[in-house]
This record gives sequence, structure tokens and C-alpha cells, in this order.
Amino acid sequence: MAESYDVVVIGAGPGGYVAALRAAQLGFKTACIDNFKNAAGKPSLGGTCLNVGCIPSKALLESSENFERVLHKFGAHGISVKEAAIDVPTMIARKQKIVDQFTGGIAGLFRKNKVASVHGTGVFASAGDGYTIEVRDGAKSQSLQAKNVIVATGSVPRALPFAPFDGELVLDNAGALALESTPKRLGVIGAGVIGLEMGSVWRRLGSEVTVLEALPGFLQAADEAIAKEALKVFTKDLGLVVHTGVQVTSVEKRSSFVSVAYEGGGKSQRLDVDCLIVAVGRGPNTQGLGAEQVGLKVDGRGFIEVDADCRTNLPNVYAVGDVVRGPMLAHKAMEEGVAVAERIAGQAAHVNLDHVPWVIYTSPEIAWVGRTEQSLREAGVKYRSGQFPFMANGRARALGEPTGFVKMLADADTDRILGVHIIGPFASELISEAVVAMEFDASSEDIARIVHAHPSLSEVMHEAALAVDKRTLHI
Ligand code: FAD
Ligand code: AMP
Repeated sequence: MAESYDVVVIGAGPGGYVAALRAAQLGFKTACIDNFKNAAGKPSLGGTCLNVGCIPSKALLESSENFERVLHKFGAHGISVKEAAIDVPTMIARKQKIVDQFTGGIAGLFRKNKVASVHGTGVFASAGDGYTIEVRDGAKSQSLQAKNVIVATGSVPRALPFAPFDGELVLDNAGALALESTPKRLGVIGAGVIGLEMGSVWRRLGSEVTVLEALPGFLQAADEAIAKEALKVFTKDLGLVVHTGVQVTSVEKRSSFVSVAYEGGGKSQRLDVDCLIVAVGRGPNTQGLGAEQVGLKVDGRGFIEVDADCRTNLPNVYAVGDVVRGPMLAHKAMEEGVAVAERIAGQAAHVNLDHVPWVIYTSPEIAWVGRTEQSLREAGVKYRSGQFPFMANGRARALGEPTGFVKMLADADTDRILGVHIIGPFASELISEAVVAMEFDASSEDIARIVHAHPSLSEVMHEAALAVDKRTLHI
């Protein structure tokens, strides 16, 4: 007899585990099914984000940044370090320890909240009075009965058809986060968030990194001023070699290196690297879910179709996170998970996709929320723009991180903030002020009239707001 649950969540990434925790908090009998196994072959909760995404990438970014500081930044403080060296296996082991602590932590949170954690692949078996979800784990199988189902099966890396991942020479994100030595020459296909973060890590540790991007521009999703500054910093200061507008035509594996052929600058070119990271985006993961078994609608690109409330075409079946429309970001997945659990409980819940912050954890960090200047221009919206550099901020100077700026865009008539864009130190933290302000429909004048601590990086946000009205104080 299948165990019955009020809520069964499929997937324990940030969308799924948070949905399960919230459902349990609301008093529902909840189970969460997940099939992820780590490199040691052990079930590991937390999905892409905790195992092979957000958390391990930030761990490696921090290690490599510390190395960079020792090599190139400590000298200015009068600190000299002889024969600085990086032990990559120790760095990777530290990353794995952080991952294991967090994935284990989710198991603990499940126990605390009485969420039944079930390992295996969840498959829709039948629909009738509720849903039967079969959980397959190798030769073992069990069934769960669910009144409500939340699908949070996430995403998987896209491979290039002519360059399948092999875990050695051609790497996806998991491979890029587990390299045991620094490749002398590293190729990265795709100058998106993942490509730039991974490229930064290995560049700082000594690789010669070449990034090949198909689109003609660099970081086209970001505000144009930010993208321009980022390209300058990443190429001139960090030393990434970036080729945009290229068409990769083949990837050939040789005994110990990879040869990448591409069209760029009107001619055929070749790049030989010791290792290639393919970071051309991620696709929704609905493989093996049995969507067709129950008639769950999936669109042409493989995303589960949902309305604004994450309801699918099936009654009492919801989908959240990377497997549905919207930005593929962990915090977006989590908020959708919470909102869906609350909707099942009959509560009003809402997630404003217009104000989801984006962050790229390069150095300097990049973060933004809301509209870009180019999108406002294209839409014919009248706006005013204010910009202020970290160079003129005491805290940024003291930190030795003067690169970058904050740019604020506000409606020309109402002064309502339409977008905030940051490239600079701790942009990931600073962006929160802008998100809160925009959620409360603040104007640039509101930010300009709020007291900001001195000396702090947040003063750059304050001055950017003053700059909208052309009245900066410190420049
Ligand atoms: P996932 O985290 O992908 O989790 C889905 C889970 O479901 C997985 O464990 C999967 O194995 C399991 N699953 C799939 N199908 C089934 C099934 N049928 N049965 C059982 N289990 C199943 N986002 C940020 O916001 N900030 C960052 O800094 C950031 N950095 C990133 C760095 C990298 C290298 C990568 C790859 C991603 C990064 N992301 C970041 C994106 C973030 O990881 C995703 O947006 C987030 O993990 C999506 O959460 P999710 O719950 O939708 O899916
Ligand atoms: P993201 O969506 O942030 O993971 O970024 C993926 C990046 O890869 C985007 O900038 C895409 O334009 C880029 N991209 C996608 N396909 C290719 C390709 N075949 N060659 C080079 N870059 C690509």
C-alpha cells in the first residue's frame, strides 16, 4: 500500500527543498524525492545549487581570490609573502567540505520539519484521486500517493552536439568545479554567468583562459554600461581573452588536449587547450519524469508550462524553479517554492519576477535588478540616469577595491526607480537595498533622503540616487 502524503515534492534543489520545508511548516504531511548522487556515489540533497552550482562555485571563487590578493594586492598593504603557492586538491577538498556540510544540513532540516526524504527518481505513474508517484532507485521501487505535487526537477547543462562532456577534457559545471590541477590553457565556450565565474577561478590560479562567445556583444543581458566596464576589467585586469561573435564548428579531443575550431573575425581559427569548459546554458530537466503519462504539459523547449502562480495544466500539480519559465536562479526557485506551498494552504502568495536580483560573482561582482538602460530606450520609456563610481568612496578605497560604479535608472516623470546596476565590491550584498526599494515602489529621491552609514559601500548607492537628480556630493 502506497504511503499517502498531502504534498509530494519531486526534486530537492532550492526550489524543491524549500517548498517541502514550507509545506511541512504549514502542517502538511510532506515527502521530498530526489535522485542526485555526489561524486562519491552518495545521495546528496540540495540539487544543482548546493552540489555543483552556487555554493561550490562561490567557495572556489573565494579561494582563488585570496590567492590573487596574496600575489597582487597584499604588496600595497606592505605585506610580503614569499613563494605563495596554491594547492588545488586542498582548495577542492575545502569546497567539498562546505558542500557536504550544507547538503547534510538539508537532511537535518528535513528531519526537524518531519519531511520524509526519499531517494530515487520520481515518476508520475497515474492520476486519479490524487497522483501516484513511483520512486525508482536502481532495482528498487516504491510508490507514494500525493494529493498535491510540486515538480522542482531543475535543469541540466546543455552540451554542444559535437562536444559531449567526458569529465576529463570537456567539462560541464560539475567537472569545472572538481579539477584537481590548474590547466595551463583553458578554453571556455559561453561567456555567461557560469563561464565567467569558472574562467575567473582558473585564470586567477594561473591558467591562460580563452572565452568563446557566440553572441556579438558581451554580457548582453546586463546593462550596456556594466557590460562595457566588465569586458574592460575582465580582459585588461584579470587577463581573460574574450572572443565574441564566434561560431564554434568542431571540438576534437586529442590524447591530452582539445582542439577547438571556430569561425570568428571573418576567418577560420583554432584554439588548442588542455581542458575545455562548455558553459552554453542550461536546459529544463523533465527527462524520466513521466510527464506524458499523466498529460503534464511541457513546452517546445522542455519547460513545464505554468501560469503566473506556478500552476500546471493538471489540478493540484505545480512546478517551480529552473524547470519553469523565468530566470534560472536559486533564489527565484526558493521563493516560488514557498509561494506554491502557501497557495496549497489557501494563502495568498506572490513572487515578483520583475524584481529578481541577478548576480555574477566575478571580481568585481556584478549585480542588477529591474530594467536595463537599453531596454528602457527600446521601449521608449523616458528615464533619468545617475551613476557614481566606487573610486570616490572611502570604504572602497580602504578595501583596495575602487573599480566599478552604481547606476540608477528612474522614471523621468514619477522618479520611480526602474533599474539599479552595480559593478563593484560586494555588489551581491548592495543590490538588496535596490530590490527592497523597488518592491516598495521607491523613488530615487527616497534613496537620496535615507541615511547611509559612513564609511560604507552603500554610500555609492546613495550617491547614485543623488546623481539621478544631478546633485552628487562627493564628485
Ligand atoms: P536544481 O537545483 O537543479 O535541483 C533539482 C533536483 O531535482 C536535483 O537534485 C535533481 O537531481 C533532482 N531531480 C531531477 N529530476 C528528478 C526526478 N524525476 N526525481 C527525483 N529527483 C529529480 N543561482 C544563483 O541564484 N546564484 C548563483 O550563484 C548560482 N551559481 C551557479 C553556479 C553554477 C556553476 C550553476 C550550474 C548554477 C548556478 N546557479 C546559481 C543556478 C542555480 O543552481 C539554479 O537556479 C538552482 O539550483 C535551481 O534550483 P531548482 O530547485 O529549480 O533545481
Ligand atoms: P548562461 O545562459 O548565463 O549560462 O550563458 C550561456 C552563454 O553561452 C550565453 O552568453 C550564450 O550566448 C552562450 N552560448 C550559447 N551557445 C553558444 C555556442 N554554441 N557557442 C558559444 N557561446 C554560446
